[in-house]
Amino acid sequence: MDYKLTVGLEIHAELKTRTKMFCDSKNDPDEKSPNANICPVCMGYPGTLPVINREAVKSILRLGVAVGGKLADYAEFDRKNYFYPDIPKGYQISQYKHPLISGGELSGVKLTRIHLEEDTARSTHDKGEESLVDFNRAGVPLMELVTEPVIHSAEEAASFAKELQLLLQYLGISEANMEKGEMRVEANVSVSKTSDFGTKVEVKNLNSFRATAKAIDFEYKRQVELIDKGEKVAQETRGWDENAGETFSQRAKEESHDYRYFPDPDLPKLFIKEIPEFSEENLKATLPELPWDRRRRLLNLGVSPEHAEIYVTQPEWGTYFGEVSQTLKEPELIITASNYITSELKTPIDANEFAETVRMIGTGEISSKGAKEILKILQAQGGEARAIAEKNNLMQISDRGQLQKFAEEAVTENKEAPIQFLVGQVIKKSGGRANPAIAQELLLEMLNR
Ligand code: ADP
Ligand code: MG
Repeated sequence: MDYKLTVGLEIHAELKTRTKMFCDSKNDPDEKSPNANICPVCMGYPGTLPVINREAVKSILRLGVAVGGKLADYAEFDRKNYFYPDIPKGYQISQYKHPLISGGELSGVKLTRIHLEEDTARSTHDKGEESLVDFNRAGVPLMELVTEPVIHSAEEAASFAKELQLLLQYLGISEANMEKGEMRVEANVSVSKTSDFGTKVEVKNLNSFRATAKAIDFEYKRQVELIDKGEKVAQETRGWDENAGETFSQRAKEESHDYRYFPDPDLPKLFIKEIPEFSEENLKATLPELPWDRRRRLLNLGVSPEHAEIYVTQPEWGTYFGEVSQTLKEPELIITASNYITSELKTPIDANEFAETVRMIGTGEISSKGAKEILKILQAQGGEARAIAEKNNLMQISDRGQLQKFAEEAVTENKEAPIQFLVGQVIKKSGGRANPAIAQELLLEMLNR
C-alpha cells in the first residue's frame, strides 16, 4: 500500500523586459490588440537576424545568484525544432546543453537548471470554425526553471511554486501572475514502492497553486490504482481539467532527440565570465532583500510567524511595517504595532500617526479600546492620533491623585471584594478612563496598609 510520491517541477515565467528576447518588438502582456507587437524577426521571416536581449540574460543571472546556482562560464542558445502554428520559425530558441544557471536551491528543493528561451504565440480555438493565432507573445523572454525529482508531497510542490513566484516578484524580473499565464507550472509525477523511481507522467499547464496540488494528488491516486491492478503507468504528457478535477492523456512523451536540438548559428556564444556586468559580485549587488531573508529578519525581531508571512507575501504591508518599526525602534512597541497592524488596519495609514498611537498604548495613556477607536478615526478621516485621543476623551487617567478618590470610594463601598472587581469599579467611576494598571497599583497599596 505504501507508495512513495516523487515530483519534479518545470516552471516557466515570462520576464518583464521592455522588448522581446531577440528583437525590439514591445514585450507588453497587456496589449489587447492581436499581432500589434510583432516584427520580421519574431515572425520568423527568412533573412532576419536575432539579437540577444541583455536585460533578459541579466534577469536570469540575478535569479541564479539569488538561489545560489552556478553561473555558466559559457552558455549558448539552441534551436528546439518542432512544428506548431504557435511557433513562427518552426523552432523555438531555447537552451539545451549549456544553460545560464546550473544547480542552486530554493525552499529546500534542489534545482537542476535555469535557462532562457522564447515564449510561443497564443492560439484561440473558440472563435468560429477557425483557430486564431496572436503573435504578440511569440518571442517574449521566458525563464524555465527545472527542479530535481526531490519533492514528495503536493503541498511541498505548491509551496515551492509560491516561493518562486515571490522571488521573481521581489527581483522585479516577472509579475509571475499565474492567472494571466505569466507563470506556468508543469509537474512530473511518479510513484514507486521501492527506492527506485517509477515511470513519470508530465502534467502540463497548471495555472494556479491549487491546481498544482490537486493535479499531483490526482496523479498519485491514479498511478497507485494502475499499479495495484497490475497495469503499467504510461510515460506521457497529460493535461489538467480544472472542472472535472482530473488529468487527461494528451500525447506520448517526446524524447529530447525528437527535437533535433542544435546551437543556433545566428546567435553569438555567451562567455558570461568575460562580461564584467555579469560578474557574481555585480549581480549580487543588484539583489534586494530576498523573501527568506526578510522572513528570518522579522522572526528575529520577535514578529510571529503568521505576521511575518503577511509582511513577506504582501510587500505593501511589509514596507509599511518596516516604516513603523523604524519610527518606533523599541522591540516591545514593534510587536504591539504588528498586532494592531494585522488586526485593526484595513489600509496603511500615516506611519507616524500609527506609531504615535502605539507609543500612547505603551505609556498607558490610552487603553487598547481607545487605540482601536483612534485607529478607526485615522482610517476614516486622517488627523493626529494625540489630538483625536484628547478630542474623543480617550486619554486614560494615569494621575494617581485623580484616581485616589475613586479608589477610596471603591474600597469603602465594596468591602472584601476581589481586586479585579475593585479595579472595575474605579474604571466605572472614572467614566471608563482610569488606567487599569495604575488603579490596581493604588488599590493594592491601600489594601495592604
Ligand atoms: P525529460 O528528459 O523527460 O525532460 P528530465 O530528466 O529532464 O526528463 O526531467 C524533467 C523533469 O522531470 C525534472 O523536473 C525532473 O525532476 C523530473 N523527474 C525526472 N524523473 C522523475 C521521476 N521519476 N518522478 C518525478 N519526476 C521526475
Ligand atoms: Mg523539459
